[in-house]
Amino acid sequence: MAKHDQNKDDRDAILARVGEALGELLDRPLAPGLYLVATPIGNLGDTSLRALAVLARAQLIAAEDTRHSKKLLSHFGLRNALTPYHEHNAERERPKILARVRAGDAVALISDAGTPLVSDPGYKLVREALDEGLDVTSVPGPSAALAALTSAGLPTDSFLFAGFLPPKSGARQSRLAALKDAPTTLIFFETPQRLAKSLADMAEVFGAREAVIARELTKLHETVIRGTLDGLSEDIETETLKGEIVVVVAPHAGVGTAVTDERILSELKLALETNSFRDAVRSVTEALKVKRARVYELGLGLTDKT
Ligand code: SAM
Repeated sequence: MAKHDQNKDDRDAILARVGEALGELLDRPLAPGLYLVATPIGNLGDTSLRALAVLARAQLIAAEDTRHSKKLLSHFGLRNALTPYHEHNAERERPKILARVRAGDAVALISDAGTPLVSDPGYKLVREALDEGLDVTSVPGPSAALAALTSAGLPTDSFLFAGFLPPKSGARQSRLAALKDAPTTLIFFETPQRLAKSLADMAEVFGAREAVIARELTKLHETVIRGTLDGLSEDIETETLKGEIVVVVAPHAGVGTAVTDERILSELKLALETNSFRDAVRSVTEALKVKRARVYELGLGLTDKT
């Protein structure tokens, strides 16, 4: 069979299988409850089958901006009833949404992009639904914070999502000072207008830590810029970045100082039994999350004596 035909057969088989998988989800009844459905952060292809199936079957979709969400729904041929739920009408709308769930409807909550409740409306709705004993189900998917973290190349074992920083410099610096000693990677949402000032404050409060600016993730102009806070701050001063932005900052340099030289030496000795000097240094550096230069120096002492 020619390669072209093979590709077409594969494509047809994938389409048929995806159609069947979605069909199976659509055919199941959707239990009453509140569904928190993650939607794309820019790329419609990131809509999950389960998100589509829940949205298609929900009796009501509460959306931050109904006009915005209509575009997503109509892209997939969905025509559900939409109601606005945002910070300005939440107090008034929350009891009505809860009443619908109580009456046996499945209500989906979506935000303009990404995961609802993450710097978006929904926390109080979830809280009150749970307090009433109503079912709340998360339908996970796109999240700007996690997309930025995973592409940043910074430690992922422990991280702190700090949302948006305060707009005023004094409050921003206080917030940064409170986060300075957190032994975790830090994730911030930013706006193009405030990016330069925030980076300058971060450089001042955190020092020259590694950081990443993740911009327009999943979109045509996706850019991930890596550097140190002072370097990025200088570059951004001269260049205005447009679009949606997440800043990811490395844990403070003190992370790893609790690891003693003795611990490093004992790990190194073990690693050297089965690895070259270079590989042993690399694996101990990564395992203990300490500076490579420190492991290298200690390693040199070790090999000199042996
Ligand atoms: N709930 C959303 C989520 O889970 O991704 C975040 C909503 S918050 C109001 C919007 C902020 O998320 C933006 O200001 C930006 O910091 C970040 N963001 C959203 N989409 C993004 C994208 N495609 N690329 C980079 N950052 C994005």
